[in-house]
Amino acid sequence: MKRIGVLTSGGDNPGLNACIRAVVREGLDLGLEVMGIRRGFAGLLDGEIAQLTARSVGGIMSRGGTILGTARCPEFYEVSGRREALRTLNRFEIEGLVVIGGNGSLTGALELWRMGFPVVGVPSTIDNDVTGTDTAIGVDTALNTIIDAIDKIKDTATSHNRAFLIETMGRHCGYLALASGIAGGAEIVLVPEVETTYDEITDKIEAAYIRGKPHCIIVVAEGWKPGTEALAEYLSSRQETVGFSVRLTRLGYVQRGGSASALDRILATRLGAAAARGLVEGHGGHMAALAQNAVTMVPLPDALSCTKELSSQMWELAQVMER
Ligand code: ATP
Repeated sequence: MKRIGVLTSGGDNPGLNACIRAVVREGLDLGLEVMGIRRGFAGLLDGEIAQLTARSVGGIMSRGGTILGTARCPEFYEVSGRREALRTLNRFEIEGLVVIGGNGSLTGALELWRMGFPVVGVPSTIDNDVTGTDTAIGVDTALNTIIDAIDKIKDTATSHNRAFLIETMGRHCGYLALASGIAGGAEIVLVPEVETTYDEITDKIEAAYIRGKPHCIIVVAEGWKPGTEALAEYLSSRQETVGFSVRLTRLGYVQRGGSASALDRILATRLGAAAARGLVEGHGGHMAALAQNAVTMVPLPDALSCTKELSSQMWELAQVMER
C-alpha cells in the first residue's frame, strides 16, 4: 500500500483535527502518502482530494471542527454512489481509506469494504452511541462544555430559586445527559431510554424544594419524550406544586465546538494512528476502538450490530446522587 485517504463524515466535534493529524503522521511514518478528502463522502464523489503533509496538519490539534470539512451525503446510501466513490479512489490511486465518523459514516465505510475496498473506521460522535468502543472522539469535550454550562446555570438558578431544564444533544442516546447530569450534580436526568412520567418529575422537584434545595437542575436529552418544551410548559402550569419557577436552556450546537480536551486529543491520536497502521496491516473492515483503555481493532459488522445500551450502573448512580 502506497497511498491512503482520510475523511471526516457526519456530525463534527473538536477531536477531529487531532485524529486527521495522527492518521497523516502515522501514515508518513509507515512510508505512505496521505490524501485528505474534503466534505466526507460528498467530497469523495466530487474528487475534492489533496495531499496532506506533516506540515499541513501542524498546529491544528487545538482547533475545533475539522480542517477537511464534513457533510451528509445521500448518494452514498445507494450502490451507484458508492461505485462512483470507488472510481474516484482508483483515479487518485488511493489504496486504503480511514473514515472518521459516527454510526452512519461507519456503516458507509462498511458498505465500501463490502465492495472490496480496504477501509478502517474511527468512532467519532459526541453521542457516544457506537457499540464496540468504550467511548468515541468528541464525547469528553462535549461533556466538559455541558458541565461548564450547568455550573453557570446553577449560579443563576440558585440566586433566583429556580428549576432549570437544560437540554443536551442526544436524539436516541442519553449518554451525554446522564454523564453530564452526574458530573454537573443535576437533581434530575431525563433520557430517551428510560420512561419518566410528569408525575414522577413533579414529585422529585417538589421533594427537592421541600428539602430546602436552592435550585433544581434537570438535564434532558433532546430525544426524551414528550420533549423539553412540553415539560417546561407543564411544570410552569404547576408552579404552586413544584415550588420553583421554571426556565429552559437549550445548549444546542455549542456542544460541538471549542478546543478538544486532553482526553479527546489523546484518544483521537491513538485511534487515528491505529487506523492508519490497521490499513497497512490488513485490518480493512475494522474499526479502531478503545476497550479497557487499550486500542483494539473491532470488525465493523460487530461494532454496528446493535444499539449501544445506556449503562444501568451509571443510571442507578445518578438516581442516588439526585438526593
Ligand atoms: P453523528 O453520530 O454525529 O450523527 P454519523 O456518522 O452517524 O454522525 P450520519 O448522518 O448518520 O452521521 O451519516 C453520515 C453519512 O454517512 C451519510 O450522509 C451517508 O453519506 C453515510 N451513510 C450513513 N448511513 C449509511 C448507510 N446505511 N449506507 C451507506 N452510507 C451511509
